[in-house]
Amino acid sequence: MGRLDGRVVIVTGAARGQGEQEARLFAAEGAKVLLADVLDDRGEALAKELAEELGADTARYVHLDVSQEADWSTAVATAKEAFGKLDGLVNNAGILRFNELVSTPLAEFQQVVQVNQVGAFLGMKAVIPELEAAGGGTIVNTASYTALSGMSFLTSYAATKAAIVAMTRVAAMELAGKGIRVNAMCPGAIDTPMTNPAQLDPDADPEATSEAVAGLYRKLVPMGRIGRPEEVARLALFLSCEDSSYITGQPFVIDGGWLSGVPGFSAS
Ligand code: NAD
Repeated sequence: MGRLDGRVVIVTGAARGQGEQEARLFAAEGAKVLLADVLDDRGEALAKELAEELGADTARYVHLDVSQEADWSTAVATAKEAFGKLDGLVNNAGILRFNELVSTPLAEFQQVVQVNQVGAFLGMKAVIPELEAAGGGTIVNTASYTALSGMSFLTSYAATKAAIVAMTRVAAMELAGKGIRVNAMCPGAIDTPMTNPAQLDPDADPEATSEAVAGLYRKLVPMGRIGRPEEVARLALFLSCEDSSYITGQPFVIDGGWLSGVPGFSAS
């Protein structure tokens, strides 16, 4: 028996990275998953792979730009048409832009807000009536450790992630009485194309880039390594299934200990 048997979940940004692992794990745990992204070829291919492996009615793909309200209407309608109901959402899609605050163009700031913050807001707004109609459900929002701690060059990104934690708390309070739980994940550094764009560069030497990333996080993170997207997927699963039945409104840090304090140095 899977921990998500009978559930129907939309995962945004499901074509790669954390969203891909969330879609894979949720489908393996019995959920019917609507994979949503703007990377249509990758998303379609993954949904097809899951459907072939786990059953034709296990996974579907829909084009969804999370910043567009009309796309959300289409995605919710697609989930209902394909699977009969909708009772879960993982708001995972996001973008990152590095820039010093003083040099950040307004258009760039607004683009990050539009995708990360407005996207999460539109997603919750679009699915709530369906979750209510299904008798309850779960929403997992993807924030970041930058919602809880400062990091240079991430004004726009950190602002949106803090907003996601704030919206999570408000939504949890409004929806608790309707059987809908809303939580947020705050990952530290996770090994995906977002932190390691060289993964997408066909000319990059994979061993050299992964050694450079490993070296950096060996020093920064108490557990001595970057996180794996599969590890974030397991947190999303926990927050989406009955194992977390009494938990709502919380941000969950998953960072190998990075936020627990200032790194110490041995005397020797
Ligand atoms: P990623 O770049 O590998 O994947 C992001 C996915 O979101 C991609 O498939 C992309 O196509 C999709 N996406 C981007 N804009 C979209 C839009 N407008 N509509 C729909 N889909 C869109 O990154 P990831 O690391 O897997 O990131 C997933 C989430 O985790 C993001 O919200 C990110 O901010 C958050 N996060 C990542 C890290 C990390 O270290 N990787 C740390 C903290 C938080």
